[in-house]
Amino acid sequence: MSKISDKGFVMASFPYRDRDRMLHILTRDHGLISAGARGACSVKSKLRPLSNLFSLCNYEFFYHKERFYVDDGEVIEAFLGISESIEHLTAASFASEVFRDLTRNSPPDQKYFDLWAYTLYEISQSERPVLLSRLSTLRLLAEAGYAPQLERCGSCQRPISSDATFSFQTSGLVCGSRACESASGDSIRLSEGTLALLRHVLTAPFNRLYRFTVTADVEKNASQFLDLYLCEKMEKDYKMLDLLEHPFDMDLSGLKRNCD
Ligand SMILES: [Zn+2]
Repeated sequence: MSKISDKGFVMASFPYRDRDRMLHILTRDHGLISAGARGACSVKSKLRPLSNLFSLCNYEFFYHKERFYVDDGEVIEAFLGISESIEHLTAASFASEVFRDLTRNSPPDQKYFDLWAYTLYEISQSERPVLLSRLSTLRLLAEAGYAPQLERCGSCQRPISSDATFSFQTSGLVCGSRACESASGDSIRLSEGTLALLRHVLTAPFNRLYRFTVTADVEKNASQFLDLYLCEKMEKDYKMLDLLEHPFDMDLSGLKRNCD
């Protein structure tokens, strides 16, 4: 048995056995880990505040038989702003699901922890939390090596500066030449404003990532692209944001932040 200290964000928190919780924690140094928190559902448990969804904590783990258990710790930030609206909570839950899926089998790398830290903070503060959560998935994919080619035609490599068609087949833009257009397959038109936004998200330092202004048209066009790109690269259809389109069908049990 060994003791390990690390910072981490609670990315998911499930009831487990009688009064325990099972946590998925994105740590700074150990990547995404699953950790048991014994008795964390009890009101008096010192582990209870360390088990709340989206909290950032300093953790003391003990590691035994290839499993992590939360032993102690302190909350650094609980991100209570996330709970202020269903839109913020859904946006954070959606991004968290994508971050978990991508980091689950990735080698530990602090860039994922840092990107999530900036993303969660901005989602908690933003008036456009859903757009930010979608944009975070593009940067996450890019950090993992799955950036789209948005500077050049994906077929002939000719530079493109105005609005253009994006081909999912080549994962790049398509120039106006007949040969490139005919080979593009499934595609979507991206406006100049959308391309500027996406290029910013691919290249900006994390602390400036969510500093931009966009029109409603760009938000709509970019959102369509981001959903399709995510689905294509992760080979998974993420349903979380659909909740916002159908609020009366919403099952809120998956969004509970603690044991109550
Ligand atoms: Zn071309």
